[in-house]
Amino acid sequence: MENELDASIPFIKGRGGVICRGCLGRNLFSGLDLGELPIANELLQSSEGSLDKFPLHLRICADCGLGQVEDVVTPERIFRDYRYLSSMSTTFLQHAADFVNQRVQEGMFSPGDWVLEIASNDGYLLKNFLPYGIMAIGVEPAENVAEISRGLGIHTIPEFFSTRLAKELLTKYGHPKLIIANNVMAHVPDLINFVKGLAILCGEKTQISIENPSLANILIEMQFDTIYHEHYSYLSAYAVATVSQKNGLQLFKVDQLSIHGGSNRYWLRNFSERSFVDLSVNAFFQSEKATGLFEASEWVNYRVKVSKILEDFHKWLSERSEDGMRIYGYGAAAKASTILNSIDLELGSITAIADASLEKQNRFMPPHGIEIISPEKLFAGKPTDVVIFPWNIKSEIASYLGANLGEGVRLWCAIPEIHQVIK
Ligand SMILES: [Zn+2]
Repeated sequence: MENELDASIPFIKGRGGVICRGCLGRNLFSGLDLGELPIANELLQSSEGSLDKFPLHLRICADCGLGQVEDVVTPERIFRDYRYLSSMSTTFLQHAADFVNQRVQEGMFSPGDWVLEIASNDGYLLKNFLPYGIMAIGVEPAENVAEISRGLGIHTIPEFFSTRLAKELLTKYGHPKLIIANNVMAHVPDLINFVKGLAILCGEKTQISIENPSLANILIEMQFDTIYHEHYSYLSAYAVATVSQKNGLQLFKVDQLSIHGGSNRYWLRNFSERSFVDLSVNAFFQSEKATGLFEASEWVNYRVKVSKILEDFHKWLSERSEDGMRIYGYGAAAKASTILNSIDLELGSITAIADASLEKQNRFMPPHGIEIISPEKLFAGKPTDVVIFPWNIKSEIASYLGANLGEGVRLWCAIPEIHQVIK
């Protein structure tokens, strides 16, 4: 597990169906098999053509509660030309600024301290350290995104985080005071190497903050559209505690967050038998157990519910478009790709999908090359109905659409079931 993956291989079959990437146990069962899907953030250059498809099968470790995809599409294929910019959402920007301000106000930093963010994206979070004069370094492998961050004056290293890079950073800068790893631990195929890298950089006074949507929410809130190839792992508090402890770190606190439709913030530090562990850790272990997350039978029920949601959404789309409604989508996010490619979508039932990101506009989403247009084009298209795919920021999008679309336009979300969203 120490070796980094070979960049020349785009796809590795099977291993994740046998061995847990967190605890190395072999007690895995099937959570949800979505069949073969295109990579969620890969878009078509024209309305014709097709994209490669890869199997997408979520498996669960009954021992540690880690979810993982059975087959691996390599990060080099997925992340080098990445089109997701964190700064596109005002909700995320505010969340990032609040996090930094709270840490500074708590008195976390002394002169000379530095902060590392892994997967620092376009600098949406680290830029908040600059006015305080705190040194911040970002690690961001997507060259196109790292470039934006550098433009803000943030030292950004265009690499994947690994034990090798951790050793380099330690030699050059010493232990950071804070390591931030938001929405990235799910994105690494070699989870153990990643955690070992964190442990290398974790000094006596280092705290590590990891935010990630929780597997329990995928199960309870029916958030199956967050399963896609770039998410290799699906974290639970118990899985994070297990993989941390096996590699010299300790989960000492868990915060529950409303961002991304329910995320957890896991706080790690060096492992010590004597350290105080916050009550939240055990509370999360208990509540995860109570959801049935570790039990195969619970996931059998889940599969039935997912099929019903997909069936209902498909029926809703077909009937409305046959009735002559002009249905558009909003948010050409990975979630949209998972759900649209999991149903037998009829050609033309969604006219187009609007997205504010210039990186996505004028491209086309599979399966039928649905055009991605600007929000202005959506407003000009006079839709009757708009499906908001990124349900995690639906209020932000609904108020934006409400202000720009006529009174009669209906807004919808497909998760946890098709329902109307109030503007
Ligand atoms: Zn495991």
